[in-house]
Formats: sequence, structure tokens, C-alpha cells
Amino acid sequence: MLPEAGSLWLLKLLRDIQLAQFYWPILEELNVTRPEHFDFVKPEDLDGIGMGRPAQRRLSEALKRLRSGPKSKNWVYKILGGFAPEHKEPTLPSDSPRHLPEPEGGLKCLIPEGAVCRGELLGSGCFGVVHRGLWTLPSGKSVPVAVKSLRVGPEGPMGTELGDFLREVSVMMNLEHPHVLRLHGLVLGQPLQMVMELAPLGSLHARLTAPAPTPPLLVALLCLFLRQLAGAMAYLGARGLVHRDLATRNLLLASPRTIKVADFGLVRPLGGARGRYVMGGPRPIPYAWCAPESLRHGAFSSASDVWMFGVTLWEMFSGGEEPWAGVPPYLILQRLEDRARLPRPPLCSRALYSLALRCWAPHPADRPSFSHLEGLLQEAWPSEGCCVKDVTEPGALRMETGDAITVIEGSPDSTIWKGQNGRTFKVGSFPASAVTLADAGGLPATRPVHRGTPTWGDQHPGGVDGDRKKANLWDAPPARGQRRNVPLERMKGGAECAWRHPPGVPDSTRSHWGRCGFCHPEPQGRPALPPE
Ligand code: ATP
Repeated sequence: MLPEAGSLWLLKLLRDIQLAQFYWPILEELNVTRPEHFDFVKPEDLDGIGMGRPAQRRLSEALKRLRSGPKSKNWVYKILGGFAPEHKEPTLPSDSPRHLPEPEGGLKCLIPEGAVCRGELLGSGCFGVVHRGLWTLPSGKSVPVAVKSLRVGPEGPMGTELGDFLREVSVMMNLEHPHVLRLHGLVLGQPLQMVMELAPLGSLHARLTAPAPTPPLLVALLCLFLRQLAGAMAYLGARGLVHRDLATRNLLLASPRTIKVADFGLVRPLGGARGRYVMGGPRPIPYAWCAPESLRHGAFSSASDVWMFGVTLWEMFSGGEEPWAGVPPYLILQRLEDRARLPRPPLCSRALYSLALRCWAPHPADRPSFSHLEGLLQEAWPSEGCCVKDVTEPGALRMETGDAITVIEGSPDSTIWKGQNGRTFKVGSFPASAVTLADAGGLPATRPVHRGTPTWGDQHPGGVDGDRKKANLWDAPPARGQRRNVPLERMKGGAECAWRHPPGVPDSTRSHWGRCGFCHPEPQGRPALPPE
């Protein structure tokens, strides 16, 4: 059983005085979860859990030191305790052997500063930098890890950043899922460091946008990633958490076929009967990924995470394109409320796109839940087939006998299908008679083909030569009063956000982020728009 985030101070305190064996009795029999609770613990209580008098004296000394100790440590304990989410990992059955967590077992714990050695810089975010690292376990074994260090200014860490950092720690400590990035532990040093599972292949976004000769990702693999993502998000939702920053940049590749949800800095517990989290004030949010209710009212819920899932799906199938690129953040909400939606990327089947459209239902209640999405994905799964005769006709997807073909579009009554050749990565249409579908063996890849009849020439390079076809954003109907092809500066690559914030509110540091200033709606119900 893992220590709870809010009681890590106790585990550390007891470890420091070699009394760690009393962690569970103190926590569970004496109900001590905060240092102040010891004020009510009598020597007889400690006798009752088998602690001898010399050990009690050591404990008393350690408590005095903790209370008079430097403030910098107390705030860490305080914040970690204060942010511990309500929903915790289910505890082990009562008959499971209880033992203290040992770093050897890879459990979440406090890690001594000297046990972690930082290497190459992997990247940096809003409040920290991430390095590749090596964590040396007490056994001497070294584990490759990623180390996120809190960025510290000359006057120490900023309150908000520190809060977000510790919130991320306290959330991650309670999570255990094959598709959620694992936190190994925390180093209470200067700077504070999170020691996490290393995702050696980096972010999915970086992989999607990698230039040639890196081949594009196969449609079948993208579908697998979507299923992994839906499973991880259903897990978070079941724990009453909302992620709020779902995007391909926050999905990390632990292996070529495994993604992990990462970046829990914006995660919040869902509160109240309505299962929503409403922002208390304007803070930066990833505009182009957000649901309309998040942009207008700062309201987040599992349903707004589902909206973001739809945008993440769109990113995956558009080769990492930026959603709503060229549209200034302040116009995105208007376009969404005018029912404009991101267009279907060429690689995305109609079935998957209609699933994305369901994620983008205007009313949160009309969007599917993540567990429902897992089923819907199964239904929209592309069929797998095998080429049984060479196709060389001009305009058709070239294939050779034996090539594995993923059928993106097609139906039993149409003669031309659209698919992806697993060998060449190319996408295009081909005669249905050239491919036999894999045997129906219960696997998602063998589901019936989808409706829709592609025509010759409906061919896309699939990116093998780096010539990815750009999704045409303007396929979406223009919003009322909106010009087509507005020549707006793209917001990618560190360009400044097109939205100027009201005086006193600093600009977002990130191009695709905007500040939710809509927490205080205008009387006429429209956000205050700055002049174009
Ligand atoms: P922010 O935290 O500001 O929302 P971010 O996701 O870019 O933004 P970090 O989580 O700090 O920031 O990550 C910074 C970079 O380090 C990212 O580009 C990410 O790809 C990389 N990174 C983060 N964690 C890991 C990890 N466990 N393994 C490998 N790379 C990682």
C-alpha cells in the first residue's frame, strides 16, 4: 500500500529517526495525519502501538525539530497535504500483507537528493524544466528517469507555480494506470524535483511533426493511441479529476506503441453535484483545445475533457497541425458558438470524425463519456486487410500482393475503398477486390468496413515523403460575419498571442494559450473583445 500524499511528512519524519515501522500504526490506529495531531497523543497511546519510551523520546525530539524547522520545508508539507485529492487509489484488500513502501519496489516516495543525477535537458514548461536523469536505488541499481525541477526565480519559487507544481505531485502520487505517466517520487531539495517515469520517445506531438525521413504514424496506430487515451481519461474521470490540458504535446511515448498521459499541472478535482470545476480567476488556458463553456465561463468537467479528446484526435489525424491556426484566441469562442468545427482531416475516417463531432456537442451533457467513447472507438475501428492482387493503376493507391492495408473508408456495396498501405504509409483509393479483410476474430481491426465511397484520386501521400497534406481549416462553414482566409499570423512557434489582455493581466507565455478572462461574463453575454 502506498503512503498517502498528505502523510508523506510523517513517513519522512519516522524514517529520519529509524521508526518507519510505526508509520501505519500511527496513521491508522492513532489517526495522526498532521503534526498538530501529536498534541493529542499520550505516551500510553504510543505504548499501545508498541513504541518503547526511548523511541517515544526520539519521536518527541523530531517533532520539535519539525515544528521549529525552516519554513521552507513546512510549506511543502502543508501544500502537499492541502492539495491531496479526495479520490485516492483503492486500498489493498484488508488481508494483503502490509509493508512500508520501499524505493526498491519503484513505489512513490521521497527520494534523497543525492540519489538522482540529472543529464540532458528534455524540455521546459511553464513552471519547470525537464531533464533526463538516473535514479540510483539503495541497492545500487540505476533507473532511467525524467526529472522535472521547479523553476526558481531570484526570490524563490512563485506562489502559483509552486502551487501548480505541488498539485501536480499530489495528483500524480495517487495515480497508477498503464497509460498515465508514473511519478516515482519527490526530491525535497533546492530546487524541488519530481522524479518521473521516462518516456524515451518524447511527446506524441513531436513524433507527429517529425520531418522526413521519419515515417508518419499509421492510422491503425493512431486508433490504438486513441483507445489508450480514452482508457486513461476514463480512469482519471473515475477518480473525480479533470485534466484540462489534453493535447498531443502532453501525451508522451513510452514505447513506439504506448502513450502516457502527462502534464498534470492543470488537473483539478471535480467538485459539487454538477461535477464541474470553475476557475476562480483569469489564468492561462489552452484556448484552441477548450470547450465553449470553458472559454466562456471557465467551467471544466469530464465533458470538457471529452471536447479536448476530440481536438486531440483531430491533431493526431492532421499530422500535429495546430487547431484553429491563424484564428486569434478571442475569435475561437465566437466560431465555436456559431457551430463552426475543425474540418475532417484526410486521414480520418468519416466514422471517427463523427465521433469527434459528438465530442464537440455544444452542450456538455450531449457529449459521450470516456467509457462510452471506448465503445464508440471500437465501432469506428478501421478494418485491416491484405492485398491479394497488385494495384498499379494511375491514381490508385499502389499496393503489392501481401501488403497490409488498413481500410479507412469503404462499404461492402462499393467497389472503391480508401485505405493506407502499411508498407509504404501512403493513403489513397483502390479497388475493393484487391484486398481481403482479415478474418473476423473479435479484434477491433477486423470490424466491418465503414460507409462512404471514395473516388479515384482521393489519395493522400500519408506523409512518407514529408509532403503531408494540410487540413483545410476553411472547409468549416465561416462563422457569421467572419471572412474566409483571414490573413492572420499563425500562432505557432513562440509567436505572440494575438489577443492583447486587459491592462494589468500579463500576456500568456505560450502562443496557443489564452487567458480565460471570461470568468466574468459581459452583461450582453459576449466576452469583451479587444480591437482587431
Ligand atoms: P507545461 O507544464 O507548461 O504545461 P509542457 O508540457 O511543455 O508544459 P513539461 O511537462 O514541463 O512542460 O515538459 C517539458 C518537456 O519535457 C515537454 O516537451 C515534454 O515532452 C518533455 N517531458 C516531460 N516529461 C517527460 C518525461 N517523463 N519523459 C520524457 N520527456 C518528458
